Amino acid sequence: MRPLPLAFTPYGWAMSTVEAARIAGVAPEQVLRFDGNTPPTPPVYASEATIAGALAEIQRYPHGGYPALLEAIAEYVGVESERIVLGAGADNLLLLCGRAFAGPGDVVRVLDEPTYPVFRMAAWLAGADAGDENAVLTYCCRPHNPTGALGPLPDVRPLVVDEAYYEYGGETAAGLPGVVAVRTFSKAFGLAAARVGYAVADEDVARALVVRQDPLAVSSLSAALALAALRAGPPDVSETIAERERLVEALRGLGRPPLPSHTNFVYIPMDHAQETYERLLRSGLVVRPFDRAIRVTVHTPAANDRLLDALEQSNG
Ligand code: PMP
Repeated sequence: MRPLPLAFTPYGWAMSTVEAARIAGVAPEQVLRFDGNTPPTPPVYASEATIAGALAEIQRYPHGGYPALLEAIAEYVGVESERIVLGAGADNLLLLCGRAFAGPGDVVRVLDEPTYPVFRMAAWLAGADAGDENAVLTYCCRPHNPTGALGPLPDVRPLVVDEAYYEYGGETAAGLPGVVAVRTFSKAFGLAAARVGYAVADEDVARALVVRQDPLAVSSLSAALALAALRAGPPDVSETIAERERLVEALRGLGRPPLPSHTNFVYIPMDHAQETYERLLRSGLVVRPFDRAIRVTVHTPAANDRLLDALEQSNG
């Protein structure tokens, strides 16, 4: 097997809810997760009726792919469907970009680190190195994970812009020449477990990505869910944003001001982040720890209040 670079780190999933429940000494249903940056409840279109048509033909390959889904995505983005590439979540498309643009001996640049770890994985799995000089491809995350910032769009090309949180920030690079905008149904559309994402690229780049993509990377069940999501209209993120701002205010009140966020999470700088993470975990509240910060997904008002209470107690 081709060796991986010494620096390679595999994607690190957070612990399971069952494991978190065991540590906290509570039932799994009582664990509140603030670490996945996904909505707290499933959307209404996540129903059996939505997938019934796909189930009725589940024994067959979906020959010809998902033209209706491509059309619906193209309309949502405001580009021609020839510019859309489907993938099994944004992750699948980020990795596809890595292997399409880069190979052994190439350098791939990742901006604003520390950031989403899959960018580096994409470079490394393609046999390329991560670095700053003479990069054949640059990745940036906008809005940025983990800080939530919406920075200026870098003017390097070719550029992959991870727009997983686009709906919360409202700004996009989709459609710009030399840019591959990667988006997902996992966040604002609430379909993380279905694993559907898409890339928006120049038409020739989209064609070159499609021929390098896994054959039928998206299942018919997931395609049906994504199509239903788009038919329900653009996701309404206003409640999440209002709740985020309430959470921000309350955190300020606790003397723990988060960074300004353009996403459905907040980044709270603090010393002893690991200890805070562990203390919250023992109360059944799972946040995402970083070196000197914790990242908290906006949850329901009641769940956010529980987290605020726990943080207030650890202040005292
Ligand atoms: N990009 C970023 C910046 C993310 O935060 C995430 C989810 N954690 C993803 C991509 C992955 O998205 P998907 O579920 O579509 O693979």
